[in-house]
Amino acid sequence: MAGIYIHIPFCKQACNYCDFHFSTSLKNKDSFLFALQKEIEMQRDYLSLALSKEERSREVSTIYFGGGTPSLLNQSELMQIFDSLNKHFDIASNAEITLEANPDDLTKNKIKELKDIPINRFSIGIQSFYDEDLKLMNRAHNSQEAGYAVKCAQDGGFENISIDLIYGIPTLTNHKWRNNLQNAFLLNVKHISAYCLTVEPKTVLAHQVKTGQIKNVDEQQSAEQFEIMLEAMKKFNFVQYEISNFCKEGYYSKHNSNYWLKENYLGLGPSAHSYNGTSRQWNISNNALYISGIENKKLNFEIEELTLSQRYNEYILTSLRTMWGTSIDYIKLNFGDDFVRYCLQEAKKYFEAKDLINEENKLFLTDKGKLIADKIASDLFKLEK
Ligand code: SF4
Repeated sequence: MAGIYIHIPFCKQACNYCDFHFSTSLKNKDSFLFALQKEIEMQRDYLSLALSKEERSREVSTIYFGGGTPSLLNQSELMQIFDSLNKHFDIASNAEITLEANPDDLTKNKIKELKDIPINRFSIGIQSFYDEDLKLMNRAHNSQEAGYAVKCAQDGGFENISIDLIYGIPTLTNHKWRNNLQNAFLLNVKHISAYCLTVEPKTVLAHQVKTGQIKNVDEQQSAEQFEIMLEAMKKFNFVQYEISNFCKEGYYSKHNSNYWLKENYLGLGPSAHSYNGTSRQWNISNNALYISGIENKKLNFEIEELTLSQRYNEYILTSLRTMWGTSIDYIKLNFGDDFVRYCLQEAKKYFEAKDLINEENKLFLTDKGKLIADKIASDLFKLEK
């Protein structure tokens, strides 16, 4: 079933590594909320139009508030968004509804407020339990707030909690990384997303690295920390269902799994992406232009119709990273025999190097292969002639 992603484009403070779309000025918040509700109405048919006439429905099984920092919104602002969603979509009674939150926002009072709206999952941006790392990344919270936020959410009755962690930070030794993982396990969270710090172009971090203020991310250290993580996750019974995502049995992020399993989704808000099986579109990454466009009854977005090769490449990129693997039968059915031949031919050297295995006609990365997942995927990509 389809999902909805809502991008809340505001943050209290800019993390130095971030290349997402956000503004630290809240002056447009009210007009953004107004525009967002209008967009919900304008896009009400996006998901159903991708279906055949018989199948048409506006039923939504997952909603994900991402950003930016959705936890900056208060109860009544979030409720306004839900009112619009309820008016224009059928939200399944068991829908997974996630709110991304920063630890400094999740106080006891905030949790009490959020209890009255239909959120049932938090994704909390902890990143590290060490102040030294948080300062280096210019995060708005401190180490005490990190654990406290999770406790507040759990005490307030939320049990489906995910936290984000980052490894490969120049100040993060292997010893500290082990402690960060240990702290996460002690908090009894059900889901952990762990990403390697990457130095994206045009970020403050890229400038700091270039000018020598901060050491660059060390690839060897990142690889060691990835291996430490795999071992620790296995020991604590976390299933690695996607390269960067781990959970206790039954606590997969339904929303993200739907992306990887190529379900359709609608993205609302500036910079949000949508996918309907044949095309991908993305809203303008500018709050003022997003708002003024909608005020003039025009959605500012770009669209790309996907060719067969592009759809095959997307399937490879997303499926290979998951525990469900890349299905040769799916490739045959959706892209044809030529693509199957091409994929298996390109995969050959990775089978020999034991980076990739073929089990029951599905390709899976080995732990060794996971370290070079992007390289393997790009070698399996089919270039347009
Ligand atoms: S809180 Fe998230 S979206 Fe905002 S700047 Fe930091 S990493 Fe980026």
